[in-house]
Amino acid sequence: MTLLAATDTGSSAGPLLVFALVLAIGYAVACLIWPFRGCRRCEGTGRMLSPTGRAWRLCTHCSGTGAKLRLGRRIYNHLTRTHGRGHGTRKPR
Ligand SMILES: [Zn+2]
Repeated sequence: MTLLAATDTGSSAGPLLVFALVLAIGYAVACLIWPFRGCRRCEGTGRMLSPTGRAWRLCTHCSGTGAKLRLGRRIYNHLTRTHGRGHGTRKPR
């Protein structure tokens, strides 16, 4: 009976790994479809209000767009640019 319990705990890592993989793939697909998230500093408005509330300026965090690239999309862009740089800068001798 104890042997059976030991095999049960060993096999429980499989479904957890599959669940993590499904989450990662879902996040990657979401980053492809929705690459931007709202800026947290200006709450997606692109404006920063003065303490009086009567004057405003553009948000410096998002340059007034109100949108920021999501972390997964930023990693994807970095990887594709790194890959492209390796092929693009090579010159024939
Ligand atoms: Zn902002």
